[in-house]
Amino acid sequence: MHQGVEMEHTDDDRRGPGRICPDWCVARHGEQLGEEDWVHVGEPLTVAEGVTAQLCLSVDPDSGAEDGPYVLIGSSEYTSAATVALGQSLIALAIRAGSRPPR
Ligand SMILES: [Zn+2]
Repeated sequence: MHQGVEMEHTDDDRRGPGRICPDWCVARHGEQLGEEDWVHVGEPLTVAEGVTAQLCLSVDPDSGAEDGPYVLIGSSEYTSAATVALGQSLIALAIRAGSRPPR
């Protein structure tokens, strides 16, 4: 017996949260159906009272274009280079604070 059945393919397979998450992503994507953009988010890090820093990566569900990853600190987006610069500035402050001779 010979069967010539052809499977139908859809072109819509690229849509939806079937993408691979970065290893730092903690988002529960299945709970955010209907979002226009698909966003990977990392574990929030508290840097000050009421201020957190977390990794974000937006993915356009239609084009697959990625925006990021960047670091969201408060409500500002930092590039990885800007985040390193900020961290170095914080360390420089700590060094200055530590180098002050006690009285
Ligand atoms: Zn993700």
